[in-house]
Amino acid sequence: MNTLDHFRKEACVWLEDNCPPGARGPGPFHTGSSKIPLDNPDLQVWLERMAEKGWTVPTWPKEYGGAALTSEQYVALLEEMKSVGARPPLINRGTMMVGPTILEFGNEEQKKRILPIIARGEGAWCQGYSEPGAGSDLASLRTTAVPDGDRYLINGQKIWTSDGHTSEWMFILVRTGPIEPKHDGISFFILNMDQPGVDARPIQLISGGSHFCETFFENAVADKRDMISELNKGWTVGKRLLQHERSGMEMLVSGGTGRRQTTVVDVARKYCGNNNGRIVDEFRESVTSYEMDAHALKLTQRRIVEESTDGKTPGAATSIMKVVSTDLEKIQTELMASLRGTQGYGWEGDGFNQEELNGARQFLRSRAASIYSGSNEIQRNIIAKRVLGLPD
Ligand SMILES: Cc1cc2nc3c(=O)[nH]c(=O)nc-3n(C[C@H](O)[C@H](O)[C@H](O)COP(=O)(O)OP(=O)(O)OC[C@H]3O[C@@H](n4cnc5c(N)ncnc54)[C@H](O)[C@@H]3O)c2cc1C
Repeated sequence: MNTLDHFRKEACVWLEDNCPPGARGPGPFHTGSSKIPLDNPDLQVWLERMAEKGWTVPTWPKEYGGAALTSEQYVALLEEMKSVGARPPLINRGTMMVGPTILEFGNEEQKKRILPIIARGEGAWCQGYSEPGAGSDLASLRTTAVPDGDRYLINGQKIWTSDGHTSEWMFILVRTGPIEPKHDGISFFILNMDQPGVDARPIQLISGGSHFCETFFENAVADKRDMISELNKGWTVGKRLLQHERSGMEMLVSGGTGRRQTTVVDVARKYCGNNNGRIVDEFRESVTSYEMDAHALKLTQRRIVEESTDGKTPGAATSIMKVVSTDLEKIQTELMASLRGTQGYGWEGDGFNQEELNGARQFLRSRAASIYSGSNEIQRNIIAKRVLGLPD
């Protein structure tokens, strides 16, 4: 048996023994937030056990809370988790976005101090990028950070801060160079959300829910030692973080065990199948076409993981992943709603089952996917310039 087979076998036995029932099959993930009541105690047990093994961030070095797995071992681990139905122990912006960014740009002290906190899931993270007047044109941001002894004082406002009110930490882009050209006057900090100078106010949505906030800063404090990379070099750091966000790795990690359990084929068979479970002609082509594209995307994501030597995300090409995956997400949710017919568009009431109600919400939510993390128009600009090398 070669080393990889050996690893796979051991992982499978360990997962089978240690993954509690409440962390298997479809269901919610642990986000690290202590501000969201955890209805299912198994999620905490699962997080702690996996963190102990270094498997919340399997490819990170051991000294920072990881397990130093090779990319082959990482893929094998994901496959074994899938085979026992184990959900990922932790999904948040710490493991997916700011952690990999600190690995690349942080100094040794920051890596030793911050990365283990992320790996153990001690707190959730939110992203302080967008501002009123600085969305697609992010470099126009105006929130300032001014030095004050060993710290910086932050003043200004962010908007659309997803999970701002339930996060313990924020990574934030701030203006530290007021007279420099706009891209050259930005710094990247991490910031504690639980302090008097930070006020995250949930924005009430028409659905009644509140997933994102307006976040106000009035002399909020960030430690000097929490500036990632150098003064006024934050634009490079912030852009790199967006590449991690856009890579869609979250979907690969969560694939098959989490939120999207009901597949397009399931829905097609149930609502548009004949007696043999064969999908009716009218929908067969669109279902097949979606399934082929979704499969190709998954294989491409997997290839990217396998080809990267140390779990790193590729550069500007991640914009391609973002466009393809968000377009597909829209096609998927729209197709599922159409397959369900009038049952696919219910908002509330006894006439719809829970899956149908969830489907309608997913369909509406998927419209936002081509806006957040940089709209698809902006991604196409990046692809044109940075991947294809076309002139401005
Ligand atoms: C669900 C959701 C969650 C979000 N979460 C966060 C978060 O956690 N943290 C955070 O900081 N932000 C977050 N955002 C904000 C998001 O990053 C911005 O909405 C996005 O960058 C677009 O900015 P804008 O809304 O200001 O639109 P605008 O920049 O005003 O754009 C309006 C339209 O013009 C188009 N456009 C603009 N410039 C160009 C151009 N140069 N070329 C072609 N087309 C262009 C855009 O594509 C868009 O269609 C979230 C947004 C959504 C929808």
